[in-house]
This record gives sequence, C-alpha cells and structure tokens, in this order.
Amino acid sequence: MTMRVVQVAEKNGPLHLAERDTPEPKAGEVRVKVEACGVCHSDSLTVEGVFPGLTFPRVPGHEIAGRIDAVGEGVQGWTVGQRVGVGWFGGACYRCSPCRRGHMIDCRNLRIPGISYDGGYAEAMVCPTDALAAIPDDLNSAEAAPLLCAGITTFNALRHSGALPGDLVAVLGVGGLGHLGIQFASKMGFRTIAVGRGGDKNKLAIKLGAEHYIDSDTEDPVAKLKQLGGAQTILATVPSGKAASPFIGALGVRGRLVVVGVSPEPIETPSFVMVGQSASIVGHASGTSIESEDTLRFSAMSGVRPMIETLPLHQAPEAYAKMMRGEARFRMVLTMGTGSR
Ligand SMILES: [Zn+2]
Ligand SMILES: [Zn+2]
Repeated sequence: MTMRVVQVAEKNGPLHLAERDTPEPKAGEVRVKVEACGVCHSDSLTVEGVFPGLTFPRVPGHEIAGRIDAVGEGVQGWTVGQRVGVGWFGGACYRCSPCRRGHMIDCRNLRIPGISYDGGYAEAMVCPTDALAAIPDDLNSAEAAPLLCAGITTFNALRHSGALPGDLVAVLGVGGLGHLGIQFASKMGFRTIAVGRGGDKNKLAIKLGAEHYIDSDTEDPVAKLKQLGGAQTILATVPSGKAASPFIGALGVRGRLVVVGVSPEPIETPSFVMVGQSASIVGHASGTSIESEDTLRFSAMSGVRPMIETLPLHQAPEAYAKMMRGEARFRMVLTMGTGSR
C-alpha cells in the first residue's frame, strides 16, 4: 500500500509531492489517516532545515486531524475509527527532569511531528499514543487542525496567564494566532482589547469578541491601555520582540506580558518599569495532548472557530508560500480529499 506525501528532501526544500509506502504502527503507536493538516509558520523549521538534528527526507505538519486506521501492539484506550488530532506535542520521554516533575511540554527530548518524525502533509502518519487528542464530534477536521497548534497555544497561554474573568486582557496582533486569541479571551470572560495595525481589522476584531480595537497606526496603544487601567495580561502574538517591547509599559500592577509569537529579536524594557509594576514577561509553549483536548472541547462548546482557507494536499507548496508571505486569512489548511468531513 502506498500513500501521497508532500516532503522536503534537503535543506531549503522545495516541498514536493512524493509516493511512499504507507507506514505500519509499531508497539505503542497508531497510524492516523489524515483528513486535514494546518500549515504553521513553524513548518519553516523543517522546510528550511534549521531545526537541530533534523534529517531528510521529512514530511512537515503538526496540526493534524484525522482518524485512527491502524493500532500497534499493546495500544490501550485508542481504537480504529476514532477521530484524533496531533499537535506540536508529539510525545515526551517521561525520564527527563521536567517530565518527572509533570511538565511534559518542556520535555528535553520532546518529539515533534514533522520534525522528529514525519508529520501531516500526508495521507497518513504514524505517532505514539501520548501525542493523541480526541476530537469532539462538533468540530470538523479542517476546523480542528489549526486548533492543535495556533489554538492550544493561545488558549493555554490565556488560561494560565493569571487573568481572571472581568480582567482587562489585550491581544497584540489580529492574525493567525491573534484571531483565535481574541475569541478565546472573550469567551473566557476577559475584557478583551485587540491591538492591530490598520483600520480594516476593526470590524473583524469586534466580531471576534473584542470590546474595543486599537489601531496602532492612528492611536498610541500603550497610552490607551494605560488609560483603561492597564492590562492584567497582554498576549503578544506578533513575531517581533521590538513590537512587543513597549507593551510592558501598558501592563497593570502584577500584569504579565505573555509571549507566544517567536522571533530572534530581543524584548527590551527599562527595568524600573518592570520593578515599579511588579510586572513579568513569560514565554509560553503550546501544550500537551490532553491540553489539546481541552482546547478542542472549549472551542466546540463556546463557538470558537479558526478562520481558514483550505487547499488540497498536492497544493501544499502554494499553501506554505502564501502563509510565509503573511497572506493567509488566517490559517491555511490542507485537505486530503475523500474521507474529509
Ligand atoms: Zn505550529
Ligand atoms: Zn522528558
């Protein structure tokens, strides 16, 4: 039996369609018939070959939604036909210090689909069972896929940020992460302020649940947030340290700047601003498979949905290029044709 995949054969790609033998799950693994796979900026770590220890050929993709179609020896609790998702968390070692303390997302030997093993730009993929999240019936696969990385990242960052219902929470950026962050913040009962560039995002931000939208092209968002009393949490989804830095000054007392947008640029702030407010800056990595289940369940229950553009698997190179140009509105999702729902 063979399957179609879109893979990279060497550093800097290109992504190309290939035919492979369909893999068999080993002990403790399942095979997932992929129905949809989101295209995430972190897929560039695979395509550009910059992730340490990456080997080729490699199939990218860590926003995978589908159905189990084979189980390996000794697998318990997961059955053929079950709808499942796999995100950034592709399995932990359970032996390192963070794992032994229960922080599996911080596993020093974390396995990541599309990096440590072949991911979801494929008709099927194999993964260990600890990577699996059950998908509720109310979500279709194309909607569920982006929730397994962009969704869990913003959902988990917000719910662990220390903000309580009624608190002022600002979301920086109305893009792939931000459009989900605004919805989650609003559904969690925060006074949600969206910050973006350009007046055209105003309507959308309000529709997504923001109480107010600040256009940073025409208004000083730091001054505005201060005027509103300062934010308890500011979720920085923008992939720029420079853009996030001034917002430390927009935090209320004991507020937190929670960083989920990744960039090599430093975040800089005068220390008196931080000390004077007892403020903190925290980084937040996505979450484990059970937290993906939490994200999916909360989304199904509250009506949070990603805004997606779908393309068939063979157009993965186009989907990836569009995402990298920043033109996706707001998440690109690959679909595998028959079997998708
Ligand atoms: Zn991702
Ligand atoms: Zn570990």
